[in-house]
Amino acid sequence: MSSILDQDIQFLPSVGTKTKEILSKELSIRSYGDLLEYYPYKYVDRSKIFHISELTSDMPFVQLKGKILSYEEVDIGKRNKMLVAHFSDGYGVVDLVWFRSAQYIIKSYKVGTEYIVFGKPSAYNGRFRFAHPDIDDASKLQISEMGMQPFYGLTENMKKRGYTSRSIERITRNLVSILPPLPETLPDFIVNRLHLVSRDAALRMIHYPHSHQEMQKAQVRLKFEELFYVQLNILRYASDQRRKYRGYIFNRIGDIFNGFYAHHLPFELTGAQKRVMHEIRADMCSGRQMNRLLQGDVGSGKTLVALMTMLIALDNGYQACLMAPTEILAEQHLQTIRDFLQGMDIRVELLTGIVKGKKRKEILDGLATGDIQILIGTHAVIEDPVAFHRLGVAVSDEQHRFGVAQRAKLWAKSENPPHVLVMTATPIPRTLAMTIYGDLDVSVIDELPPGRKPIQTLHKFDNQLTSLYQSIRRQINLGRQVYIVFPLIKENEKIDLKNLEEGYETLKQAFPEFRLSKIHGRMKSAEKEAEMEQFVKGKTQILVATTVIEVGVNVPNASVMVILDAQRFGLSQLHQLRGRVGRGCDQSYCILVTGYKLSEETRKRIDIMCDTNDGFRIAEADLKLRGPGDLEGTQQSGMAFDLKIANIARDGQLVQLARTEAQAIIDADPQCEHPLNSLLWNRLRELKKTHINWAAIS
Ligand code: ADP
Ligand code: MG
Repeated sequence: MSSILDQDIQFLPSVGTKTKEILSKELSIRSYGDLLEYYPYKYVDRSKIFHISELTSDMPFVQLKGKILSYEEVDIGKRNKMLVAHFSDGYGVVDLVWFRSAQYIIKSYKVGTEYIVFGKPSAYNGRFRFAHPDIDDASKLQISEMGMQPFYGLTENMKKRGYTSRSIERITRNLVSILPPLPETLPDFIVNRLHLVSRDAALRMIHYPHSHQEMQKAQVRLKFEELFYVQLNILRYASDQRRKYRGYIFNRIGDIFNGFYAHHLPFELTGAQKRVMHEIRADMCSGRQMNRLLQGDVGSGKTLVALMTMLIALDNGYQACLMAPTEILAEQHLQTIRDFLQGMDIRVELLTGIVKGKKRKEILDGLATGDIQILIGTHAVIEDPVAFHRLGVAVSDEQHRFGVAQRAKLWAKSENPPHVLVMTATPIPRTLAMTIYGDLDVSVIDELPPGRKPIQTLHKFDNQLTSLYQSIRRQINLGRQVYIVFPLIKENEKIDLKNLEEGYETLKQAFPEFRLSKIHGRMKSAEKEAEMEQFVKGKTQILVATTVIEVGVNVPNASVMVILDAQRFGLSQLHQLRGRVGRGCDQSYCILVTGYKLSEETRKRIDIMCDTNDGFRIAEADLKLRGPGDLEGTQQSGMAFDLKIANIARDGQLVQLARTEAQAIIDADPQCEHPLNSLLWNRLRELKKTHINWAAIS
């Protein structure tokens, strides 16, 4: 369906060849539609005119109406000149100043003509001054229709060539004035029930709101629409999958699960673990394939939930696999699970890249015959030509590389799609989870096993090392162990390693009575493991490391985590690192060390860390500080972010609303055939084609 919005911008009278080229190259604006969707990033209220006598130096942008009395060129040294226009509105005089383009200014703005001047006042030598103000001819600008002035983002390149937000404003104004009424893209029943403004009105008002209210109405409508189609796409995908594929029904809880539960479970499950197991069991009996995201902070006991889920598959005559992001983690899982299952007649094997030759063949055979009941591996398992006898459950530890496409690959290994459980220790705020993992149901373990004391987090400046060393010494003398983490600055690995080596030597001298281990990413696996083992076995008291210890490592006796140059780490990374301690029953500490000078953002990060151990609060804060595009995992999730106006962090309520509305549509019209909804399905098809790179998800 071609529409006026597909029209090339060169057909706009206000767009010449040069501008066409710049818009296309710098902002990817090629069509009327692109321009219309290039939304302002802020607005300034221009409905009020101030008197010069009312000005104060703490005012934001204001506008004045008056005349230029005279021009003056002032020497400002180094052969530079400043152009000053003395401007009066009858209530006082201000100076308008320019540091360039004097000739052009003098030619454009005449002494004695009435102008509207817009800018930020600053006090200078007893007079207010406006640097590089916006100036409009008062006779051409109707105050009553000015309302909010839009501000558009520009690239540096555009600014250098003299483009301003005003240039874009002029072009969009031109476009809006020639556009015929635009068709609606949401069904009437939604628009009416939610009291949204029409698409046509919203697209015009978003560029030229007359008031704050109009701006909000336009934003709500456009944000909702954007989020709604994202949700509709995800939920429709999920519903299609459900209809196409039946899930195995695992309603038998037999000897394996019960035997484990009664005799091998070394502790009572937490309330949260029990609740999650109920949710998982309900999924497995429903006849639908389970697609569940299990969120739980580090140390909350997800592995055990994974194991019990796999045991249900075994009880029903099927196999299970558990995939980890690294080989080291896969090996740790193997160890943990074999320990849990000790004495039970269950064959658990490991398959990673380093398992080769005869051993590999043996494992592949065992999987094909069904002899091996549980396979632990890296994510390579799904890429491999590994054939299972009957794969019933697949668990993925850490969601990062486990998007829709990866999950779909599992089905090649099984007659029906296996039940899937994706675990994550990086708590994802609900709104974000809904958007990137919208086709997954979510379970949360929000309770730590009993007996754990909350970790205390402290902030120290790097000139307080003496007292820091004393605390470390005290802890080690109590029999504990300590991690000291150095940051990795990716630009220069050599300098990083040098930092680490030097730091290691300094620490060795500072603690002559203790033994130290050291690991970093450039060491060979075997070397790393040997060093690690020394620490795990308690032969060394201090482990000096880069962030390689971030995931997986479990040393309950380690109770102090010192993070040097903590300002270099993001919130979620700090939280992950902190999660390495607090695993035993001793009081644990996390000490964040920084220099004195901190940016405001760093300050906030440190404050949040000292304030809470709650991974979800930290994730929310992270989302607010960094924005969703940056968050770990969103890139690889298989759900491209291309939101033009909505903001997942700030528009949580709209995400929820969009979700509810989209779900209602899918529930009422699962086959997508109701004529009332045809507009929706057509629009979705159009969006998928042109706007968004959804390829990864569907
Ligand atoms: P996660 O994978 O969620 O970070 P783990 O599964 O590694 O956490 O569990 C952390 C530790 O807590 C493990 O040593 C595990 O055996 C133990 N654990 C798990 N559940 C419980 C429980 N209900 N009670 C006591 N300890 C538990
Ligand atoms: Mg884990």
